[in-house]
Amino acid sequence: MSYAAFQTEIGRINDILCSVNLLSWDARTVMPHGGVDSRGRQIATLTSLARDLATGDTLRRAMDEARHDATPDALRALDLAAAEIATLTRIPPALIGELASLKTAAHAAWAEARAANDFATYAPLLTRMIAMQREIGQALGDNPYDALIGLYEPGMTQARLAVLFGELKAALVPLIEKATAAAQPRTDFLTRSYPIPVQKAFALKIAARMGYDLNRGRLDDTVHPFEISFTRNDVRITSRFRETWLPGGMFALWHEAGHGMYEQGVDPAYTRSIFATDLANLYAVGGASFGMHESQSRLWENRVGRSRSFWELHFPELQAHFPDQLSDVTAGEFWAAVNQVRPDFIRVEADELTYDLHIILRCEIEAALMSGDLAVRDLPAVWAEKMRAYLGREVPNDTLGVLQDVHWSQGYVGSFPTYTLGNIMSSQVFKAAQAQPAIAAGLAEGDYAPLHGWLQHEIYAHGRGASPAQTLQKVAQGPLDTAPYIADLTRKVADLTG
Ligand code: ZN
Repeated sequence: MSYAAFQTEIGRINDILCSVNLLSWDARTVMPHGGVDSRGRQIATLTSLARDLATGDTLRRAMDEARHDATPDALRALDLAAAEIATLTRIPPALIGELASLKTAAHAAWAEARAANDFATYAPLLTRMIAMQREIGQALGDNPYDALIGLYEPGMTQARLAVLFGELKAALVPLIEKATAAAQPRTDFLTRSYPIPVQKAFALKIAARMGYDLNRGRLDDTVHPFEISFTRNDVRITSRFRETWLPGGMFALWHEAGHGMYEQGVDPAYTRSIFATDLANLYAVGGASFGMHESQSRLWENRVGRSRSFWELHFPELQAHFPDQLSDVTAGEFWAAVNQVRPDFIRVEADELTYDLHIILRCEIEAALMSGDLAVRDLPAVWAEKMRAYLGREVPNDTLGVLQDVHWSQGYVGSFPTYTLGNIMSSQVFKAAQAQPAIAAGLAEGDYAPLHGWLQHEIYAHGRGASPAQTLQKVAQGPLDTAPYIADLTRKVADLTG
């Protein structure tokens, strides 16, 4: 009875948080621009209502009573809720209020500065945001950057990241040199004219075959693709299709469908007993961590979707959708084109080999901002210096440099590492999956049900019920390890360079 009272109270909070998600989905897809200010207020109101309930007496009493006769699963849910409430109460309420309004102002200033290539107008707001993030980090732990990273990836620290990043840098830099020195694949056909409805039809058909359930999901258009869930039975994805850039829309769609399948697969028992949203971040995460979530999007996008066998299987189907545009292209040429290694300025358009160097650059800068070793006004110069060192490119302007990402304007300091952690984990998980004969046989003939079923059973179902380290130990029989990821990329470069 007492645990039921706890679930009822969490359910009320989740109803509010999921409504916030719905308002946010609307704002990022179809809302007219004029709605920005009032929508910001509506979201702030509902969010503070959820915070009040989460830190209030009713929930606390229900949790105290539920502990008396709790099963191990119930205890785990109670501990998760207690930890999240503790984090929430350590952040000063005044800071939370200021953060909400600063986000709206900083986002507007960032968008204008990016369009005008004018970092100086955005710098004062970013300076305030960085100072606030440092204050939040200090309220949560001794090392502010570690505390912020832990909000997104429980158990991860800057020191552990430095080791992982060191291993990646040592492996990636020579691989990139090898790939860029070799003869380049032809890519001319990627920029032909591909009507968007046909692109969507193909990409969505493949996503459904991967396991994304369209009865409990839908696809919409957006500028920056994302996945968002309101319950496990309504998990939406977005993508951005361009008529003259064929790979963009489909790979983004499969990425978001990977996130979506995770959310659709969470066991209902967990969705009733833990917060639907990470309250401290106000971001929907049904999975073990941001990194584990990203591993599932990367697995479908890159490990499956950019593999040679995938295109040998599915290229004829793509060709049937675009018989004129792709009549002079082979499956092998298409695979090579969508894997071309090309050091460039923009992270979200980066290939698999250079992507993590974009992330490492950002994490090093975040760490220096949090420790106070770097001031916001010096960001453009440090950015340019690191781009030169890691990717050998001269940044022509701040729009293609420090102004390209939305994250810092929204207060996301410490979330960038989870992109690379996701890449690393995707290879660990995929390696374990491929060791299952039924999965390997399925992949060889384009039957993704065995892989999806295994991920559902091993990862999706447990939601936030297991930590990322526990999940990885169980699934891949070990801790975080860069070796399978480096092996995948090494094989890919060898294959690409013949
Ligand atoms: Zn993602």
